[in-house]
Amino acid sequence: MAVPKICVIGACNMDLISYAPRLPKLGETLPGTRFQMGFGGKGANQAVMAARLGAQVSLVAKLGQDLFGENTLANLRANGIDTRFIQVTDESFTGVAPIWVDESTGNNAIIVALGANELLSPQDVAAAQEVIEAADVLVCQWECPLETNLAALRLASQAGIRTIFNPAPAREHLPDEAYRLSDIFCPNESETETLTGLPVSTLEQAETAARVLLGRGAARVILTLGERGSLLVTPDQVHHEPAPAVKAVDTTGAGDAFVGSLAYFIARGFSLTAAMARANQIAAISVQSPGTQSSFPSAADLPPELLAAEGG
Ligand code: AMP
Repeated sequence: MAVPKICVIGACNMDLISYAPRLPKLGETLPGTRFQMGFGGKGANQAVMAARLGAQVSLVAKLGQDLFGENTLANLRANGIDTRFIQVTDESFTGVAPIWVDESTGNNAIIVALGANELLSPQDVAAAQEVIEAADVLVCQWECPLETNLAALRLASQAGIRTIFNPAPAREHLPDEAYRLSDIFCPNESETETLTGLPVSTLEQAETAARVLLGRGAARVILTLGERGSLLVTPDQVHHEPAPAVKAVDTTGAGDAFVGSLAYFIARGFSLTAAMARANQIAAISVQSPGTQSSFPSAADLPPELLAAEGG
């Protein structure tokens, strides 16, 4: 089997998670009970997921010249990711997400400071042209500037490379060009609601909203629907792929596990429905253990049939 090649354009963040019996009040200093750091950022997460399944992954990203940037690079390299097109800038800091968790309720409060991710530019994408054009699939999310994503999507589409756009986190307005450049447009329920202004509580509503996204120019839409799995809608096909019933302990990063896995199976040439079914299975594994990247399985942890050739 040829090794599938994936290029991810996206953000790297460091999650800094403090746990306390409650959230602090304004101006208060509250003793915490635990602290944890985790590697995050949707781009990094999706790249790590695809690499753990066995893809050759290049990540195009930007880090600050600081300890978090150094640790992030080391983590990406430990996951076998090509980091040649990750720039380190002294004009900003590595993206961070300080998170407070109230242990008694599970509620949290998060500040995401995107820092260097916001400086990832169309020029950085142009510098990575060779890995974009060599890829089987290009993957983008929306934690980096839209112009940067558009530059990458244009390059890939001119080169005939398949594109997956995960519009996360969503804002209300996305120009039609971003839809037109998406072979697969892949939002979750709340992102779909933000983009369309429509409710996505039932499968029928999800299909209606997906048709609005198709109408804006996406070639195919795959909505992720949490514990209900995923829904493919194209101009001539609707397919719901239910998620396996599992006991979820932490769904953080489930969407990234899904998108990274989807990219991997599509790069291997799987049909969309088979790729969705397997991405559902892998995302469902990730929700059964805590953390983000720490909950993503590697090929060696998976039953061989999950990675076997389609129909094999
Ligand atoms: P979401 O971003 O919440 O839509 O989740 C992405 C994907 O993760 C879904 O399409 C499912 O494949 C999987 N997933 C999320 N939550 C669960 C759950 N509670 N049980 C099983 N699979 C889940």
